[in-house]
Formats: sequence, structure tokens, C-alpha cells
Amino acid sequence: MRIKDDKKHMIIKTTFFPAVIKKSDKKNIALIGVGCNLGNCIRRFKKLYLFLNKHPKVDIIQTSIIYKNPPFGYLNQPDFYNTVMVIKTDLSPIELLNFLLYVEKKFGRIRSFKNAPRTLDLDIILYNNVKINKKRLILPHPHFKKRDSVLIPLVLKD
Ligand code: AMP
Repeated sequence: MRIKDDKKHMIIKTTFFPAVIKKSDKKNIALIGVGCNLGNCIRRFKKLYLFLNKHPKVDIIQTSIIYKNPPFGYLNQPDFYNTVMVIKTDLSPIELLNFLLYVEKKFGRIRSFKNAPRTLDLDIILYNNVKINKKRLILPHPHFKKRDSVLIPLVLKD
């Protein structure tokens, strides 16, 4: 995989990103994909970090760099900012999904159309070795192995 780092593709390092944080007594491990392309995404990622860590059943263990990259799908929209977080959690996969959907809403996400600009997009990429294929939740997240927006932050954790 070629890591592009030009005007359109930028690797950003800032407070909390990347970071290796702490040990945790929570039982399950999950990889969360984070995306944003509206407003001040870097500031929102920092607020998100603080907010997720406040949940008694969620500990952030590690975060990656932030990767700025052009949109795909619907092209007439601002560039995306992506990062990934490794968390440990005592929430079940569905509980974690519900919590992340609540967090997206809290951070102002409005669902208008597929691939539309978004203030915050949170996906569960992996949850332990769990495989689920339900309407509401697919694990591992489909296509993540093909997405630079997940893979590049994943390999650039420091
Ligand atoms: P999107 O807006 O494209 O991120 O899609 C969000 C919807 O995808 C949610 O309402 C979930 O029910 C569904 N979904 C299916 N699998 C996952 C997953 N692994 N992580 C997050 N959302 C998922």
C-alpha cells in the first residue's frame, strides 16, 4: 500500500492523535473508525476523545494519526478526516453500536443522503473476533480492508 502525503492527502498529528493511553480492565476489544468532513473536524475529534473516555464502560487504549483525504462516492463535498481508535469495553456489540449512534447524534450528525457530508461518522470495524451479519450490524465492518481511510490510520499509530 502506498501512503500518499501531498496537498490532498495529509497525515496530521495533534493532541490525543496519535496516542497510546492506558491499560484497561474491560473485557472486549474493538476498533472504531471515525470520519468527519464538515466544520472543524480536528476539534471535534478531540472532543470526541474526551467524551468517549467518560463512558464508564469504555476505555480508549490507542489512537492513530488523523488522515485527511479526498471524498469518494459523492465527490462534490469537502475532504474527509479519518482516524481509528482501539477501545476496550464492557458494552456488547449492539450496545456499542447504539452508544456510537447516540454520540453521532450528539455531535450533530444529520443523515441526508448516502455518502453525504457528515459532522461525525462512527463505525465498529472489529469487535473481538465476532462475526455478525444482521440488518443493523455487520462485523467485521464490510469493505474496511479496501478503505485507505481506515487502513492508513491503522498502520500509522505513531
Ligand atoms: P453509515 O451512516 O453509512 O455509517 O451507516 C450507519 C448504519 O450502518 C447504522 O445505522 C448501523 O445500523 C449500520 N451498521 C452496520 N454495520 C455497522 C458497523 N459495523 N458499524 C457501524 N454501523 C453499522
